[in-house]
Amino acid sequence: MIKLLLLPGDGIGPEVMEESKRVLGWYSKNRQFAYESESDLIGGTAYEKTGRSDPDETIEKAKAADAVLFGAVGGPQWDNLPFEKKPERGLLRLRKDMGLFANLRPALCFDALKDASTLKPEIVAGLDILIVRELTGGVYFGEPKETTTLPDGQKRAVDTQVYTTSEIERIARVAFELARVRSKRVASAEKSNVMVTGVLWRQVVTKVHKEEFPDVELTHILADNAAMQLVRNPKQFDVMVTDNLFGDVLSDQAAQLTGSIGMLPSASLGAKIGGRQAALYEPIHGSAPDIAGKGLANPIAGLLSFAMCLRYSFGRIEDANLLEKAVEQVLAEGYRTGDIMQPGMNKVGTAGMTDAILNALDKLS
Ligand code: NAD
Repeated sequence: MIKLLLLPGDGIGPEVMEESKRVLGWYSKNRQFAYESESDLIGGTAYEKTGRSDPDETIEKAKAADAVLFGAVGGPQWDNLPFEKKPERGLLRLRKDMGLFANLRPALCFDALKDASTLKPEIVAGLDILIVRELTGGVYFGEPKETTTLPDGQKRAVDTQVYTTSEIERIARVAFELARVRSKRVASAEKSNVMVTGVLWRQVVTKVHKEEFPDVELTHILADNAAMQLVRNPKQFDVMVTDNLFGDVLSDQAAQLTGSIGMLPSASLGAKIGGRQAALYEPIHGSAPDIAGKGLANPIAGLLSFAMCLRYSFGRIEDANLLEKAVEQVLAEGYRTGDIMQPGMNKVGTAGMTDAILNALDKLS
């Protein structure tokens, strides 16, 4: 029996998780998706109840689960907490303790939403790219990471960009393997013109490609050019692999191409050990305190995260495709939450959007 851990978190996290539960129930009833699930605390809500945003019990359960479905964490009421108590700490510790080194961020533009992008519809129509971001190394974790006071009284802050061969090899393999089941193209982005970590990144990716994935097309691109090309002609890319910092920026930029943050899912994966792979699935949006508790949140990013879970953790490709197709269909039928509302469309709330998706699932299956 599949074991899922549900971590709703804060703000709109619990609201969108409720909708994911309804869709999980549909898959259990109609597609023989046999699972057991448990919910637990994370983030600000966990801090209020336990004094910690990353309770050990939650972390241990996450490590034992076959997959974790995550909502969102954070909110203004916790903004002034010290860093180690902040809600985001819960997510960072999950990533670290579960060894989630690969962050997969698809940027998919549904045809019905091509006008919602800030780019011209012809630039984004049919867009389907996957950014593979290294998640546990690089400048966010490198040491030294400190602020010191110099003899003349001014401050000096240092972050350290650091990568090892094995860290680059494993993220490169994830990207090449994913490219094999897509259109067999990988673009690797770094700054090998000015950074030694970029030089090593390029060398290692080239070696892994030559020795293990010669059937996949590899191109190297400087990260600043990648940013430019993403808005000039994003459809030239299929899979893009990059480090933690550049991936953070480029994946947000790619997200914006598709029009709404409420539409985009993500997966964070660990190493495959004895047939098991740690995995956490979450919408890319945050806790949206401005609309929390109002039934307005778009549940689609959370639902598409569950589709990624079906695909990557359980190999249920047909089931994943079915859910993505149902989303595409309700958008084509004109259902819209406020964030993606367009003139003449049918405005629905969080639960209304899920109702429409469940209807579409019934019809499609
Ligand atoms: P946000 O993603 O929460 O919200 C940005 C804007 O998008 C807001 O106007 C919000 O209403 C809207 N939005 C987001 N998700 C939506 C959805 N599903 N449906 C409709 N509209 C949606 O980003 P923010 O405002 O910068 O951050 C709010 C809090 O979330 C902060 O505390 C931040 O630290 C946290 N955060 C958490 C995560 C995470 O849990 N992974 C990610 C980003 C931000």
